Amino acid sequence: MRETGRYERVQSLGKGAFGFVQLGRNLQNGELAAIKFLKRGDVNKYVESEILNHSVLRHPHVIQFKEVFLTSEYIAIAMEYATGGSLFHYVQKQTRLKEAVARWFFQQLIIGVDYCHKRGVANRDIKLENTLLQKVNGLPLPLLKICDFGYSKADFKSAAKSKVGTLTYMAPEVLVNRDGKYDGKVADIWSCGVMLYVMFYGRYPFETPAGSAMPKATEILAMLDNMVRQRYELSPHVEISDQGKDLLRKMLLPDPKQRITLEAVMTHPWFTTNLPPEA
Ligand code: ADP
Ligand code: MG
Ligand code: MG
Repeated sequence: MRETGRYERVQSLGKGAFGFVQLGRNLQNGELAAIKFLKRGDVNKYVESEILNHSVLRHPHVIQFKEVFLTSEYIAIAMEYATGGSLFHYVQKQTRLKEAVARWFFQQLIIGVDYCHKRGVANRDIKLENTLLQKVNGLPLPLLKICDFGYSKADFKSAAKSKVGTLTYMAPEVLVNRDGKYDGKVADIWSCGVMLYVMFYGRYPFETPAGSAMPKATEILAMLDNMVRQRYELSPHVEISDQGKDLLRKMLLPDPKQRITLEAVMTHPWFTTNLPPEA
């Protein structure tokens, strides 16, 4: 029987690269919590930044950090439980989202990411798998919550250098990292653009050939070439408004200095149509 501190184990919620997540019930107040268990032996700088950065955030579109505790084997992070699974599964079930539904989730994503950035935290692993859904009575669609600060970077620390994140969501300047540093916040905007693309079209704008879990260097270079030449398909088979495509193009600009800012995303005409209700 695994120790779960002052939580009783309810069920498993997921397994990630570095540990596993379980649903627990707080034995003192009965509250449910998602608990992420990371092997104590594996504790490294990423676990440290996950805890430090996530714990300072408090926002309706960020999974609420509750507490951290130790068991004999694990360091455990208790957080708000998202009842609706990940946006990845939601999109996968429907193949792609209608533009208005994509807008609903995208607005919340951007508002949440903007908050993190204003608190000085770049997530650096923004993707559909790391955005969770919370069902709320009376709302037609679930609310979006950003999770997984395992690769996050606080901007009061030295400039970001590490090539972290997930290949299909990685900004070109992270992939190339020529002068040894990049702004994680600007790279997050690219990843949000990739998310918007996947919600619109049900596939990735840039990827290495299917089935290669460990892509070859040449395949990564070919992908990078498409990124810097802005070669991706704005599919004629899926009807997306000109404003939607315009926003997408501005987020997927390869030069981080030219890429649209979050401020400009939030005043873009595609974004300002039908703002979501306050969470
Ligand atoms: P990793 O760093 O290993 O990717 P994550 O923090 O992304 O770990 O969690 C892995 C998976 O566990 C998520 O994709 C999600 O399916 C599930 N999960 C994580 N946190 C929660 C939560 N707060 N509520 C519900 N499910 C969660
Ligand atoms: Mg994750
Ligand atoms: Mg992670």
